[in-house]
Amino acid sequence: MFTIRALEKIAIGFRTSIKLIILIIISMILVVGMIVLFYHPTYEVSLNGEVVGYTANKSELQAKINEYISSQEEKNVAFAQVDAMPTYRICLLKNDATMNDDEIYEKVTGNGTKYYKYYAITEEKDEKLYVATFKEAEEIVDSLKEQDSANIDEIGIVEKYDTELKKFTSVEKSISKLYEERPVVTYVAYNYSSPSASNYSTGTSYSKVELGISLINPVSGVITSRFASRDSVRDHEHTGLDIGASEGTSIKAAASGTVTYSGNCGDGYGNYVVISHGNGVQTLYAHCSRLLVSEGQSVSQGTIIAEVGETGNAYGPHLHLEIRKNGISYDPENYVY
Ligand SMILES: [Zn+2]
Repeated sequence: MFTIRALEKIAIGFRTSIKLIILIIISMILVVGMIVLFYHPTYEVSLNGEVVGYTANKSELQAKINEYISSQEEKNVAFAQVDAMPTYRICLLKNDATMNDDEIYEKVTGNGTKYYKYYAITEEKDEKLYVATFKEAEEIVDSLKEQDSANIDEIGIVEKYDTELKKFTSVEKSISKLYEERPVVTYVAYNYSSPSASNYSTGTSYSKVELGISLINPVSGVITSRFASRDSVRDHEHTGLDIGASEGTSIKAAASGTVTYSGNCGDGYGNYVVISHGNGVQTLYAHCSRLLVSEGQSVSQGTIIAEVGETGNAYGPHLHLEIRKNGISYDPENYVY
Protein backbone atom coordinates (compact mmCIF):
# COMPACT_ATOMS: atom_id res chain seq x y z
CA MET A 1 0.00 0.00 0.00
CA PHE A 2 2.76 2.36 0.96
CA THR A 3 4.44 2.05 -2.36
CA ILE A 4 1.24 2.67 -4.28
CA ARG A 5 0.53 5.79 -2.26
CA ALA A 6 4.04 6.97 -2.74
CA LEU A 7 3.77 6.46 -6.51
CA GLU A 8 0.47 8.34 -6.55
CA LYS A 9 2.13 11.26 -4.78
CA ILE A 10 4.95 11.31 -7.30
CA ALA A 11 2.47 11.22 -10.19
CA ILE A 12 0.53 14.16 -8.81
CA GLY A 13 3.72 16.12 -8.26
CA PHE A 14 4.84 15.34 -11.84
CA ARG A 15 1.51 16.48 -13.26
CA THR A 16 1.77 19.72 -11.31
CA SER A 17 5.24 20.47 -12.61
CA ILE A 18 4.14 19.78 -16.21
CA LYS A 19 1.31 22.27 -15.71
CA LEU A 20 3.84 24.73 -14.35
CA ILE A 21 6.17 24.24 -17.32
CA ILE A 22 3.28 24.74 -19.77
CA LEU A 23 2.30 27.90 -17.91
CA ILE A 24 5.86 29.22 -18.12
CA ILE A 25 6.03 28.46 -21.87
CA ILE A 26 2.71 30.20 -22.51
CA SER A 27 3.78 33.29 -20.64
CA MET A 28 7.11 33.33 -22.49
CA ILE A 29 5.27 33.18 -25.83
CA LEU A 30 3.05 36.01 -24.65
CA VAL A 31 6.02 38.12 -23.63
CA VAL A 32 7.87 37.51 -26.92
CA GLY A 33 4.66 38.17 -28.81
CA MET A 34 4.22 41.44 -26.96
CA ILE A 35 7.76 42.43 -27.79
CA VAL A 36 7.25 41.62 -31.46
CA LEU A 37 3.94 43.42 -31.49
CA PHE A 38 4.82 46.52 -29.58
CA TYR A 39 8.52 46.93 -30.15
CA HIS A 40 9.63 47.31 -33.71
CA PRO A 41 12.88 45.58 -34.32
CA THR A 42 15.80 47.89 -34.81
CA TYR A 43 18.52 47.27 -37.37
CA GLU A 44 22.05 48.31 -37.02
CA VAL A 45 23.22 49.41 -40.49
CA SER A 46 26.80 49.05 -41.64
CA LEU A 47 28.51 50.27 -44.77
CA ASN A 48 31.84 48.69 -45.67
CA GLY A 49 31.94 47.13 -42.20
CA GLU A 50 31.45 50.43 -40.44
CA VAL A 51 28.30 51.14 -38.45
CA VAL A 52 26.58 54.11 -40.00
CA GLY A 53 23.35 54.16 -38.03
CA TYR A 54 20.09 52.51 -37.11
CA THR A 55 16.81 52.01 -38.89
CA ALA A 56 13.45 50.71 -37.82
CA ASN A 57 12.35 50.43 -41.40
CA LYS A 58 14.85 48.24 -43.15
CA SER A 59 12.64 47.42 -46.14
CA GLU A 60 11.64 51.02 -46.71
CA LEU A 61 15.22 52.25 -46.54
CA GLN A 62 16.48 49.52 -48.87
CA ALA A 63 13.64 50.21 -51.33
CA LYS A 64 14.66 53.85 -51.44
CA ILE A 65 18.27 52.86 -52.15
CA ASN A 66 17.14 50.45 -54.88
CA GLU A 67 15.11 53.23 -56.41
CA TYR A 68 18.17 55.44 -56.50
CA ILE A 69 20.11 52.71 -58.29
CA SER A 70 17.46 52.27 -60.97
CA SER A 71 16.91 56.07 -60.98
CA GLN A 72 13.68 56.14 -62.87
CA GLU A 73 12.54 59.45 -61.52
CA GLU A 74 15.25 61.68 -62.93
CA LYS A 75 15.33 62.61 -66.60
CA ASN A 76 18.07 61.02 -68.70
CA VAL A 77 19.48 58.98 -65.84
CA ALA A 78 20.04 55.49 -67.07
CA PHE A 79 21.13 53.96 -63.79
CA ALA A 80 23.28 54.73 -60.79
CA GLN A 81 26.01 52.80 -59.14
CA VAL A 82 26.76 52.77 -55.41
CA ASP A 83 30.13 51.94 -53.92
CA ALA A 84 28.74 49.45 -51.45
CA MET A 85 25.39 48.15 -50.32
CA PRO A 86 24.54 48.48 -46.63
CA THR A 87 24.32 45.42 -44.39
CA TYR A 88 21.72 45.06 -41.66
CA ARG A 89 21.99 43.40 -38.25
CA ILE A 90 18.91 43.02 -36.12
CA CYS A 91 19.13 44.22 -32.53
CA LEU A 92 15.90 43.48 -30.73
CA LEU A 93 15.94 45.47 -27.60
CA LYS A 94 18.05 48.44 -28.42
CA ASN A 95 15.79 51.25 -27.39
CA ASP A 96 18.30 54.04 -27.03
CA ALA A 97 19.31 53.93 -30.73
CA THR A 98 18.29 56.98 -32.76
CA MET A 99 17.02 56.24 -36.24
CA ASN A 100 18.81 58.11 -38.99
CA ASP A 101 17.41 56.67 -42.24
CA ASP A 102 18.00 59.85 -44.21
CA GLU A 103 21.61 60.05 -43.09
CA ILE A 104 22.18 56.42 -44.04
CA TYR A 105 20.59 57.02 -47.45
CA GLU A 106 22.84 60.02 -48.07
CA LYS A 107 25.89 57.98 -47.06
CA VAL A 108 25.03 55.09 -49.37
CA THR A 109 24.13 57.22 -52.37
CA GLY A 110 26.63 60.01 -51.68
CA ASN A 111 29.48 57.86 -52.91
CA GLY A 112 27.42 56.65 -55.86
CA THR A 113 27.86 57.43 -59.51
CA LYS A 114 25.03 58.35 -61.80
CA TYR A 115 25.02 57.29 -65.43
CA TYR A 116 23.14 59.48 -67.82
CA LYS A 117 21.78 58.24 -71.09
CA TYR A 118 21.39 60.56 -74.06
CA TYR A 119 22.25 60.78 -77.75
CA ALA A 120 25.02 62.45 -79.67
CA ILE A 121 24.62 63.53 -83.28
CA THR A 122 27.93 62.97 -84.99
CA GLU A 123 29.40 64.31 -88.17
CA GLU A 124 32.38 62.34 -89.45
CA LYS A 125 32.45 60.67 -86.02
CA ASP A 126 32.79 64.01 -84.21
CA GLU A 127 30.10 64.62 -81.62
CA LYS A 128 28.44 67.79 -82.79
CA LEU A 129 25.53 68.14 -80.39
CA TYR A 130 23.40 66.26 -77.92
CA VAL A 131 19.73 65.48 -77.54
CA ALA A 132 17.76 63.80 -74.77
CA THR A 133 15.89 61.13 -76.70
CA PHE A 134 16.40 58.81 -79.64
CA LYS A 135 13.18 60.14 -81.13
CA GLU A 136 14.66 63.62 -81.31
CA ALA A 137 17.89 62.31 -82.82
CA GLU A 138 15.93 60.43 -85.44
CA GLU A 139 13.84 63.50 -86.21
CA ILE A 140 16.99 65.52 -86.87
CA VAL A 141 18.54 62.93 -89.17
CA ASP A 142 15.27 62.42 -91.04
CA SER A 143 14.88 66.14 -91.59
CA LEU A 144 18.46 66.47 -92.88
CA LYS A 145 17.81 63.57 -95.22
CA GLU A 146 14.59 65.17 -96.42
CA GLN A 147 16.39 68.45 -97.11
CA ASP A 148 19.15 66.54 -98.89
CA SER A 149 21.81 68.04 -96.66
CA ALA A 150 25.24 67.69 -98.25
CA ASN A 151 26.70 66.02 -95.16
CA ILE A 152 23.94 63.43 -94.69
CA ASP A 153 26.30 60.52 -95.35
CA GLU A 154 28.54 61.68 -92.53
CA ILE A 155 25.77 62.12 -89.96
CA GLY A 156 25.28 59.49 -87.28
CA ILE A 157 23.55 58.87 -83.97
CA VAL A 158 25.51 57.56 -80.99
CA GLU A 159 23.90 56.37 -77.78
CA LYS A 160 25.83 57.80 -74.83
CA TYR A 161 26.20 56.56 -71.28
CA ASP A 162 28.11 59.06 -69.28
CA THR A 163 28.51 60.30 -65.73
CA GLU A 164 28.26 63.80 -67.06
CA LEU A 165 25.09 65.20 -68.54
CA LYS A 166 25.66 67.34 -71.64
CA LYS A 167 23.76 70.44 -72.65
CA PHE A 168 20.99 69.51 -75.04
CA THR A 169 20.17 71.27 -78.29
CA SER A 170 16.59 71.55 -79.54
CA VAL A 171 15.58 69.62 -82.66
CA GLU A 172 15.01 72.77 -84.66
CA LYS A 173 18.33 74.31 -83.70
CA SER A 174 20.15 71.05 -84.35
CA ILE A 175 18.78 70.84 -87.87
CA SER A 176 19.78 74.39 -88.75
CA LYS A 177 23.20 73.85 -87.17
CA LEU A 178 23.91 70.66 -89.07
CA TYR A 179 22.29 71.40 -92.40
CA GLU A 180 24.72 71.91 -95.23
CA GLU A 181 23.59 73.08 -98.61
CA ARG A 182 24.69 70.88 -101.48
CA PRO A 183 27.29 72.59 -103.63
CA VAL A 184 25.18 72.67 -106.80
CA VAL A 185 26.95 75.89 -107.55
CA THR A 186 30.39 74.98 -108.72
CA TYR A 187 31.13 78.55 -109.50
CA VAL A 188 29.25 81.80 -109.22
CA ALA A 189 29.37 83.62 -112.51
CA TYR A 190 31.52 86.74 -112.56
CA ASN A 191 31.63 88.87 -109.45
CA TYR A 192 29.59 91.68 -110.86
CA SER A 193 28.42 94.42 -108.61
CA SER A 194 24.69 94.06 -109.22
CA PRO A 195 23.86 90.56 -108.08
CA SER A 196 20.16 91.43 -107.79
CA ALA A 197 19.64 90.94 -111.50
CA SER A 198 18.47 87.46 -112.40
CA ASN A 199 20.62 87.85 -115.49
CA TYR A 200 23.50 86.01 -113.87
CA SER A 201 23.83 82.30 -113.70
CA THR A 202 24.07 80.80 -110.25
CA GLY A 203 26.50 78.12 -111.31
CA THR A 204 27.80 75.87 -114.02
CA SER A 205 27.21 72.25 -114.79
CA TYR A 206 28.89 69.92 -117.23
CA SER A 207 25.90 67.65 -117.46
CA LYS A 208 23.45 67.73 -120.35
CA VAL A 209 19.95 68.49 -119.16
CA GLU A 210 16.83 68.17 -121.26
CA LEU A 211 15.85 71.68 -122.33
CA GLY A 212 12.63 70.66 -124.05
CA ILE A 213 13.41 72.85 -127.08
CA SER A 214 15.84 72.67 -129.97
CA LEU A 215 18.26 75.50 -130.55
CA ILE A 216 19.93 76.87 -133.66
CA ASN A 217 23.34 78.53 -133.89
CA PRO A 218 22.93 82.31 -133.25
CA VAL A 219 25.94 83.20 -135.42
CA SER A 220 28.24 81.30 -137.65
CA GLY A 221 31.80 81.67 -136.55
CA VAL A 222 34.75 80.08 -134.88
CA ILE A 223 34.73 78.92 -131.29
CA THR A 224 37.36 80.99 -129.49
CA SER A 225 36.77 79.92 -125.91
CA ARG A 226 34.98 76.89 -124.61
CA PHE A 227 32.61 76.51 -121.71
CA ALA A 228 34.24 76.34 -118.28
CA SER A 229 37.71 76.93 -119.68
CA ARG A 230 40.14 79.22 -117.96
CA ASP A 231 42.54 81.45 -119.74
CA SER A 232 44.76 84.42 -119.03
CA VAL A 233 42.08 87.09 -119.40
CA ARG A 234 39.74 85.42 -116.89
CA ASP A 235 40.14 84.67 -113.26
CA HIS A 236 36.95 82.59 -113.19
CA GLU A 237 35.52 79.64 -114.97
CA HIS A 238 33.81 80.49 -118.23
CA THR A 239 30.03 80.31 -118.01
CA GLY A 240 29.40 80.30 -121.75
CA LEU A 241 30.80 79.68 -125.18
CA ASP A 242 32.63 82.33 -127.21
CA ILE A 243 32.10 82.42 -130.97
CA GLY A 244 34.39 84.76 -132.80
CA ALA A 245 32.75 86.74 -135.64
CA SER A 246 33.33 90.12 -137.19
CA GLU A 247 31.77 93.21 -135.67
CA GLY A 248 28.20 93.76 -136.85
CA THR A 249 27.46 90.11 -137.66
CA SER A 250 23.77 89.39 -137.03
CA ILE A 251 22.91 87.41 -133.91
CA LYS A 252 19.81 85.26 -134.22
CA ALA A 253 17.55 84.07 -131.41
CA ALA A 254 18.49 80.42 -130.79
CA ALA A 255 14.83 79.62 -130.10
CA SER A 256 11.55 81.45 -129.78
CA GLY A 257 10.77 83.18 -126.53
CA THR A 258 10.41 86.48 -124.72
CA VAL A 259 13.19 89.03 -124.31
CA THR A 260 13.62 89.41 -120.54
CA TYR A 261 16.66 91.67 -120.70
CA SER A 262 18.14 93.93 -123.32
CA GLY A 263 20.63 96.52 -122.20
CA ASN A 264 23.93 97.23 -120.57
CA CYS A 265 24.31 97.30 -116.81
CA GLY A 266 27.95 98.28 -116.94
CA ASP A 267 29.22 94.81 -116.16
CA GLY A 268 31.45 92.40 -118.04
CA TYR A 269 28.69 91.36 -120.43
CA GLY A 270 28.58 94.77 -122.15
CA ASN A 271 25.40 95.07 -124.25
CA TYR A 272 23.50 91.87 -123.95
CA VAL A 273 20.17 90.17 -124.45
CA VAL A 274 18.49 87.49 -122.37
CA ILE A 275 15.66 85.45 -123.91
CA SER A 276 13.42 83.27 -121.76
CA HIS A 277 12.09 80.18 -123.50
CA GLY A 278 9.85 78.83 -120.75
CA ASN A 279 10.43 75.98 -118.31
CA GLY A 280 13.31 77.93 -116.76
CA VAL A 281 15.35 77.82 -119.98
CA GLN A 282 17.20 81.02 -120.97
CA THR A 283 19.75 82.01 -123.55
CA LEU A 284 22.09 84.98 -123.19
CA TYR A 285 23.96 86.87 -125.88
CA ALA A 286 26.73 89.17 -124.68
CA HIS A 287 29.31 91.74 -125.86
CA CYS A 288 26.95 92.99 -128.62
CA SER A 289 27.70 96.17 -130.55
CA ARG A 290 24.00 96.86 -131.11
CA LEU A 291 20.81 95.59 -129.49
CA LEU A 292 17.83 95.21 -131.82
CA VAL A 293 15.14 94.00 -129.39
CA SER A 294 13.65 95.36 -126.20
CA GLU A 295 12.45 93.79 -122.97
CA GLY A 296 9.07 92.10 -123.15
CA GLN A 297 9.31 91.53 -126.88
CA SER A 298 8.42 88.12 -128.26
CA VAL A 299 10.90 86.68 -130.71
CA SER A 300 10.82 83.69 -133.03
CA GLN A 301 13.66 81.29 -133.58
CA GLY A 302 16.02 82.99 -136.00
CA THR A 303 14.86 86.58 -135.30
CA ILE A 304 17.83 88.91 -135.49
CA ILE A 305 18.16 90.30 -131.98
CA ALA A 306 21.58 92.00 -131.93
CA GLU A 307 24.95 92.40 -133.63
CA VAL A 308 28.33 91.01 -132.65
CA GLY A 309 30.62 93.46 -130.88
CA GLU A 310 33.19 93.66 -128.12
CA THR A 311 31.45 95.65 -125.40
CA GLY A 312 32.10 94.81 -121.78
CA ASN A 313 34.89 92.46 -120.83
CA ALA A 314 35.73 91.26 -124.32
CA TYR A 315 38.92 90.62 -126.22
CA GLY A 316 38.00 91.18 -129.82
CA PRO A 317 34.53 90.92 -131.39
CA HIS A 318 32.72 87.72 -130.44
CA LEU A 319 29.42 86.43 -129.16
CA HIS A 320 29.41 85.12 -125.63
CA LEU A 321 26.53 82.64 -125.58
CA GLU A 322 25.07 81.15 -122.44
CA ILE A 323 22.43 78.46 -122.13
CA ARG A 324 20.80 78.09 -118.73
CA LYS A 325 18.15 76.11 -117.05
CA ASN A 326 16.89 77.22 -113.64
CA GLY A 327 19.83 79.58 -113.30
CA ILE A 328 22.54 77.00 -113.96
CA SER A 329 24.72 77.44 -117.04
CA TYR A 330 25.20 74.39 -119.22
CA ASP A 331 27.75 73.81 -121.93
CA PRO A 332 26.28 75.34 -125.15
CA GLU A 333 28.23 72.81 -127.19
CA ASN A 334 25.85 70.16 -125.91
CA TYR A 335 23.06 71.91 -127.80
CA VAL A 336 24.55 74.02 -130.61
CA TYR A 337 27.73 74.19 -132.76
ZN1 LIG B 1 32.57 84.35 -123.07
